[in-house]
Amino acid sequence: MTRPQFLDKSWVETTIRNFCASSANSLRNAANEPAWGEPLVGYARGDDPLFATLKQDIGPFYWTPLEAFEQAHPDISVDAAQLTVISYVLPQTEATRLEQRQATEVPAERWARSRFHGEHFNCALRLHLAEQLTESGHPAVAPERLSEFAYQKSARFGIASNWSERHIAWIAGHGTFGLSDGLITPVGKAVRFGSVVAKITLGETPRPYAGHQDWCLWYAKGTCGACMQRCPVDAITPEGHDKPACFNYIRKVTAPYVHEHYGTGDTPCGLCQVKIPCEAQNPLK
Ligand code: SF4
Ligand code: SF4
Repeated sequence: MTRPQFLDKSWVETTIRNFCASSANSLRNAANEPAWGEPLVGYARGDDPLFATLKQDIGPFYWTPLEAFEQAHPDISVDAAQLTVISYVLPQTEATRLEQRQATEVPAERWARSRFHGEHFNCALRLHLAEQLTESGHPAVAPERLSEFAYQKSARFGIASNWSERHIAWIAGHGTFGLSDGLITPVGKAVRFGSVVAKITLGETPRPYAGHQDWCLWYAKGTCGACMQRCPVDAITPEGHDKPACFNYIRKVTAPYVHEHYGTGDTPCGLCQVKIPCEAQNPLK
């Protein structure tokens, strides 16, 4: 095995930023605009007790960082305290947000492209970061890229994946959940996330919140509810996010629409992520 090189947070952040600055970060439209803006990076200890709480809440199929790491590196003996979870936020660009604000029934073209080409880039970034760490002597895995990554039925939350990038981001100090289930970060909710688990000690990012919904105006002050108005099928209510209604609309309406009109795939919508107070900021700030 490669002798571990000394790497710090600055190395991790430069690796992520350099990849984001490359031509791979593209909407693949005529102007070849970037899919994502400047990334944010946060860290969580592999043995943070919130990972076990999450598994308890979501279900036994949900992976802790140690379980995800062991899938990729079964021959490496490690305990959870030796692992760091690196979580990053990829913000939608202003051009994408402005265009998506005009959309009311189906996503705008830039948004559909970021969901498709931008997510392909995100997958490449996950793998790139994991490879760079591994080659530097710090074995790593991008859990979302494992062939075992899958969606299952959680008794408490319905359909759920065995590795949730949003929940990882919450634990890594990026923000808290809103009424619509999206994570509100310092650069808002119009974002996507990625993460890598590595055998490295990098410390943890403080969580500047006590509760998991602190930055949402609905929960913090009993106001707003703007995301409810943005959903064309009322899949956001005072009770929260109606996952089956959202799922059905995306599968039956938005996914076929973007395929036919923009030639993109995947499952975009995100109307509830823009034209709201938490679109590009923490609305409490
Ligand atoms: S739009 Fe308002 S209610 Fe909805 S998540 Fe954002 S702050 Fe909360
Ligand atoms: S993503 Fe789901 S909840 Fe949000 S606007 Fe679209 S259908 Fe509604």
